[in-house]
Amino acid sequence: MAKYARLRERVQLELPQVSLVEAPAAQNDDLLLAHDADYVQRVVAGGLSAAEQRAIGFPWSVEMVERSRRSVGATLAACVAAAAQGVAANLAGGTHHAQRDRGQGYCVFNDSAIAAKALCRRRSQERVAIVDLDVHQGDGTAGIVGPSAEIFTLSLHGSRNYPARKVDGHIDVGLPDGTGDTAYLDALDAALAQMLERFVPTFLIYLAGADPHEDDRLGRLRLTLDGLRARDARVFDLAARLGAPIAVAMAGGYGRDLETTVQVHLNTVQAAHGHWLRCRPAGTRGTDLG
Ligand SMILES: [Zn+2]
Repeated sequence: MAKYARLRERVQLELPQVSLVEAPAAQNDDLLLAHDADYVQRVVAGGLSAAEQRAIGFPWSVEMVERSRRSVGATLAACVAAAAQGVAANLAGGTHHAQRDRGQGYCVFNDSAIAAKALCRRRSQERVAIVDLDVHQGDGTAGIVGPSAEIFTLSLHGSRNYPARKVDGHIDVGLPDGTGDTAYLDALDAALAQMLERFVPTFLIYLAGADPHEDDRLGRLRLTLDGLRARDARVFDLAARLGAPIAVAMAGGYGRDLETTVQVHLNTVQAAHGHWLRCRPAGTRGTDLG
């Protein structure tokens, strides 16, 4: 949990041109876009069973509910800001293991599935791609989105990483242990090209997990900081080519050294700002990145 506070601190210190705003709390109506009413009600009221709470991985508290709401609210707000500014980021979120009726793997509510559905509700022509490059498969997102024509899920992950049982999305690429920069970036290029043959997004939601990094305790891939920079660049380049707004969520990162994890996330925020400088909508001034 410490990485979130540290990331915010470093963004404030090292990227003063990025404007930080407090994450609003998602309302029940937002949560219901992707979750069953019974599940939402039980989370809010503290009515989960001990087994359900264990699957999530941390204990229930009023603060846990508030944090989970704000984690979703930040991705929703990032989508609104990205629609206006081209790009914005949630400095947390990416809770992609949360299913419609249950939480798991430190994920309570599925922010990217909720945000994608909110975007499609707002604009009927919207076509949202959820590009999930966390090292773990986006099983919750794939399960919630299903065979949708307006939301496309792409997950590139370690095949031997959690979850043991993957849920098929539109494109899933399971990579072997020890996959390094070159093979990873080749696989990413191929997956993005394959997506564009089937689906042309008008909006991107990018889960920029730090856990493919070689020093991560959970990730089994072996990407370097440079490899992860190249990964980010490919996704932002895609957004630029499509002229599509892009909202970023940080997702996982469990480095042996906390600062390395924070550095990976900080690099993504820096890349997001660079993307904004290159692609900001005509007429916007200043350096705001919500
Ligand atoms: Zn992860």
